[in-house]
Amino acid sequence: MDILLASNNAHKVRELTSIFAPDRVITPREIGLDFSFEETGDTFFANAYGKAEALWRLSGGDYVVVADDSGICVDALGGDPGVYSARFGGDVGADSDEARTALLLERMTGKTARGAHYVCSMVAVLGPDRFLCAQETWHGEIAHQRSTGTGGFGYDPIFLLPDRGCTVADISDDEKHALSHRGKAARTLRSLLA
Ligand code: IMP
Repeated sequence: MDILLASNNAHKVRELTSIFAPDRVITPREIGLDFSFEETGDTFFANAYGKAEALWRLSGGDYVVVADDSGICVDALGGDPGVYSARFGGDVGADSDEARTALLLERMTGKTARGAHYVCSMVAVLGPDRFLCAQETWHGEIAHQRSTGTGGFGYDPIFLLPDRGCTVADISDDEKHALSHRGKAARTLRSLLA
């Protein structure tokens, strides 16, 4: 099965290509489509479904289209940045993963409750009014400082796995896929599709 992924984000394409193998993951760019989607929903599901359905229509209904929306929810910040994780700090000039993680660490200064979780909502659109969805979480804590590890992306260098004593940036891609919100949602979706 060819799965058309509603993303050109290299990190997500790499993670999902390995999780969905042997099914083939292709991107809009690979089939000559210029796809972008404004994430205006106030839930992870609304954004994931909206994105998958829009690309399914754009691609003429020829593919199973998968989209995800994900983010990090921090307990001490009332669940923020949540669905706004990718844009967090945009109003104060944070325009890179590094700037966003630095800003989050700053907002956590003095907070002793460090609990946080990632969320991933993943939707497969199969036809008109037909879709499957899996939504998963991955619980951890916000570290006190950024790790020097180079794995993962986004908030991974400050997402601490207390039972391992390291952040997600310090574990391998395969370990991350086995544990992560996106890995769990993708495996559930894959078995639903099968
Ligand atoms: P979107 O799903 O493309 O809207 O982006 C979600 C944002 O949440 C990303 O840009 C990251 O900042 C963050 N995020 C989601 N999943 C992860 C992850 O596995 N590691 C680190 N950051 C993540």
